[in-house]
Amino acid sequence: MPIATVNPATGETVRTFEAIGAEEVERRLAAADAAFRSYRTTPFAERSRLLRRAADLLERESEEVARTLTTEMGKPLKQARAEAAKCVKAMRWYADRAEALLADEHPDPADVADSGGSRAVVRYRPMGPVLAVMPWNFPLWQVVRFAAPALMAGNVGLLKHASNVPQTALYLDGLFRRAGFPEGCFQTLLIGSAEVEKVVRDPRVRAATLTGSEPAGRAVAAAAGDEIKHTVLELGGSDPFVVMPSADLDRAAQVAVTARTQNTGQSCIAAKRFIVHADVYDAFAERFVAGVRALRTGDPMDESTDVGPLSSEKGRADLEELVDDAVAQGAEVLCGGRRPEGPGWFYEPTVLAGITPKMRVHREETFGPVATLYRAAGLEEAVAIANDTSFGLSSNVWTDDEEEVERFARDLEAGGVYVNGMTASHPAFPFGGVKRSGYGRELSGHGIREFCNITTVWHG
Ligand code: NAP
Repeated sequence: MPIATVNPATGETVRTFEAIGAEEVERRLAAADAAFRSYRTTPFAERSRLLRRAADLLERESEEVARTLTTEMGKPLKQARAEAAKCVKAMRWYADRAEALLADEHPDPADVADSGGSRAVVRYRPMGPVLAVMPWNFPLWQVVRFAAPALMAGNVGLLKHASNVPQTALYLDGLFRRAGFPEGCFQTLLIGSAEVEKVVRDPRVRAATLTGSEPAGRAVAAAAGDEIKHTVLELGGSDPFVVMPSADLDRAAQVAVTARTQNTGQSCIAAKRFIVHADVYDAFAERFVAGVRALRTGDPMDESTDVGPLSSEKGRADLEELVDDAVAQGAEVLCGGRRPEGPGWFYEPTVLAGITPKMRVHREETFGPVATLYRAAGLEEAVAIANDTSFGLSSNVWTDDEEEVERFARDLEAGGVYVNGMTASHPAFPFGGVKRSGYGRELSGHGIREFCNITTVWHG
C-alpha cells in the first residue's frame, strides 16, 4: 500500500510520501532508546507541563488539523473537529491525573509481616520504547489515546500509522516535539506494514499496541509473543444495540442512528446489530429507518454533512459485498443498499432486516453505514443474538427495567455495557474488548498501567 493522502471524497491523490529506509528506522530506534534512558526519570510535573503544552498547541491548531483528517480519510469536518477536541481533553486528563494513577501502592502491613518483610511497596515504572500500530478511522484520537498515558508514565512512543493518513502521522510527530518533549520521545515511522515485524522484534522496543484488523493484530502479537513482549490489541467489533419494551423509543432510535453512522460507520465501537424486542420492533424500525433516511450524505467538508465517503475504494467494495451477500440470501433492504453515482467512495446509509446466521453480515464487521435489524422474542433471545458473534468490544442496551439491566451487565460478552446511551470512549473509563475484539485496556488507570513494569520493592 503506498504511503499517500488520497481524498476519499474525490478519489484524487493529493500527496505521496517516500517510506523511510532501514538506516533511518535504525536512527529513530536509537533515538527512542537514548531518549528513554533520561526521560524515564523526569518528574511527573515536567511530563504534565509538556503534555499540557501539546494540548494547547493542538487546541490552537485544531481547525487546520480537522481539515487534514477530513482530506485524508473523509470524515465529516464537524466530526473531525470533535475528534481534535477529544484529544485535547484526554491529554489534559492524563496530565492532571497520571501521578495519582501511578502512585506507589502499599500492601497491607499484616501481609508484609507474613512475607517476613519489614516494608514493601508496589511501584509503577515505565517499560521503555513502545511501538503503536494505528488505524486511519480516528487518526488523531487512536494515537493520542495511546501517547498521552504512555508519555505520562515515562515511556517513549514509536508510531506506525496507517498508510493513508501520513500527514496526520507527521503532524503528531511534530506536535510532541514542538511541545518540548525531548528528541526521540515520540516519533513517527513512515514505513509499510511489511516493515513492522522487524521493529517489533528489535530488542530496544519493549512492547506494542495495535488498533486495527484481526490479521494485523495477529501478525504483531505473534511476533511480539515470539519475543516475549507485552501487547495490547484493540481490534474490530460488531456491537449489539438491544431495545427492550420499556425503552424510550424516540430517544433510542435517534441515538441508534448516530451510533451506527457516526464517522460514516467506520468505528470499532459503532452499534452494528440492532436487536429489538418483538413488542416494539415495528415501532422502533419505523423511527430508525426514518432517521437514517434523513441523514445528509455528501462532501465531508460541508458543515451540514452527516455521512461522508468511505475511507477507501476497497473499504466501500468490502461493505458492498457484505450487503450484496445478505440481499442474495433474502435480506430485506429497508433503505439505502446502493452506491450513489459520481466520484468518491460514497455508500448510501443502509438498513437491512431479515438477517439469518448464514449471511456474512451476521458474522462479519460492517465497517461503514450499514445496520442490521433483528427481532428478539424476549431477553434470553436478545442476549443469545447479541453474543452470537466472534467479537466482544462493547454493547448498548435500552431499558428502564433495573432487573434487565443487571441481566445484560452480567451476560453480555463485551468490554462495555452502555445503558440508555451509546458507547463512547472517555479518558476516565477503561476501553477494550474480549473474544476476537482483542485484549488489554486503554484509557483510565487501567490503560496507563498496561505499559508499566509493576515492580515489588521489598525490604527484609
Ligand atoms: P488494518 O489493515 O489492520 O490497519 C491498521 C494498522 O495496521 C495500519 O497501520 C496498517 O498499516 C497496519 N497493518 C496492517 N497489516 C499489518 C501487518 N500484517 N503487520 C503489521 N501491521 C499491519 O486495518 P484497515 O485495513 O485500516 O481496516 C480493516 C479492518 O480493521 C476494519 O474493517 C475493521 O475491522 C478493523 N479496524 C478496527 C479499528 C478499531 O478501532 N478497533 C479501527 C480500524 C480498523 P498499513 O496502513 O500500512 O497497512
